[in-house]
Amino acid sequence: MNNRFDHFVVGSGFSGSVIAERLASQLDKKVLLVEKRDHIGGNAYDFYNEDGILVHKYGPHIFHTNYDDVWQYLSQFTEWNGYQHRVLAYVDGKKLPIPINLTTVNILLGKNFTEPELKDYFESVRLKLSQINNSRDVIVSQVGELFYEKFFKNYTFKQWGVYPEKLSPEVTKRIPVRFNTDDRYFSDKYQGLPSEGYTKLFEKMLSNKNITILLNTDYKNIVNDIKFSSLIYTGPVDYFFDYKFGKLPYRSLNFEAQTIEKEYYQEAAVVNYPNDYDFTRITEFKHMTLQKHPKTTIFREYPKSEGEPYYPMPTDNAFEIYNKYQKEAKKLKSVYFIGRLAEYKYYNMDQVVKRALEVFEELSKK
Ligand code: FAD
Ligand code: UDP
Repeated sequence: MNNRFDHFVVGSGFSGSVIAERLASQLDKKVLLVEKRDHIGGNAYDFYNEDGILVHKYGPHIFHTNYDDVWQYLSQFTEWNGYQHRVLAYVDGKKLPIPINLTTVNILLGKNFTEPELKDYFESVRLKLSQINNSRDVIVSQVGELFYEKFFKNYTFKQWGVYPEKLSPEVTKRIPVRFNTDDRYFSDKYQGLPSEGYTKLFEKMLSNKNITILLNTDYKNIVNDIKFSSLIYTGPVDYFFDYKFGKLPYRSLNFEAQTIEKEYYQEAAVVNYPNDYDFTRITEFKHMTLQKHPKTTIFREYPKSEGEPYYPMPTDNAFEIYNKYQKEAKKLKSVYFIGRLAEYKYYNMDQVVKRALEVFEELSKK
């Protein structure tokens, strides 16, 4: 392999792939994209399993955004299937819409509230806090303790290994509360899955002749043999610095796959189990990929603290350690840290695409 490149990109998830594509196609730069796994796409990677069912290897990924530029950019490489995400939560023996909405409350409480009546109800039960300091405050200040206990407290404990009091507000702020019957999980302007899957989208993005892809390679094993002018790093930030300020905590997951000999298993793409079982949720991919198949595959998600880093831990302790790494990262003028692991942020896919496009603008001015 030629060892001279303009840019060295570590990681082929959305962060790394977007920046590689932009540099190669817009600035005609030679890019080396290094990926330690045996496939491109990062955590958005999907594939057809042995039964021919399209599944997301690292759990359910639904694309949603309010950014016009992000949507238009990705739409150059894919069409979208128009899927609108809906989730049910299994509570008190019933499958109810989550985010909590008018239907959720009426079924759970056996009421017939109208929208204004629901507002009055929440006003009467919500805790009037002067400050929102954590993820528990976010929920109890909107819907009160009963709904917090039934939908959030135990799910969060399973997912994060700590109760919502210990997590920064951003975690449960992701989930709105609705007074109407809108049962979509996201209300963004754009939503859907790539019509032919995420991996096809990545293949298209990375098909430029200026991009060389090296799979199954940890960048540290080759970085000293390559000449390049800038490094774009999208892996875990603590690993980059050889853990010199200590290991950052991440949450990981085990995915237990099962294929069932019937067309559908459950009513929705995702059913959450806040209070029952050790898993947090069951995903049935066919509801979101819209694939037709006589069989169906489900994944049960079991959270754990060790393993592949999937979620940065949004706690004060973790941010304290991250801030030290961030300071070091800022000193390196020709290294760019982008993405969920490199910036230690609970980013969605559209947010990392946005970040990568911004960093590309910065690089193109140099
Ligand atoms: P990643 O996708 O993690 O890519 C980083 C890449 O770097 C990986 O491929 C990794 O192997 C590689 N790498 C790391 N270290 C090295 C190294 N030393 N050498 C070489 N390569 C290395 N977002 C949404 O918008 N909607 C969703 O519905 C959604 N669902 C999710 C569900 C789950 C279970 C999870 C875990 C995440 C979900 N996300 C979702 C978030 C989404 O996965 C991330 O926002 C996105 O994947 C981040 O992209 P990234 O490129 O920053 O990181
Ligand atoms: N959450 C919860 N109950 C639910 C859904 C979400 O307690 O039924 C909390 C939980 O802490 C979760 C967070 O809200 O980690 C964010 O949920 P989201 O569905 O966005 O999680 P992700 O898809 O990123 O795992």
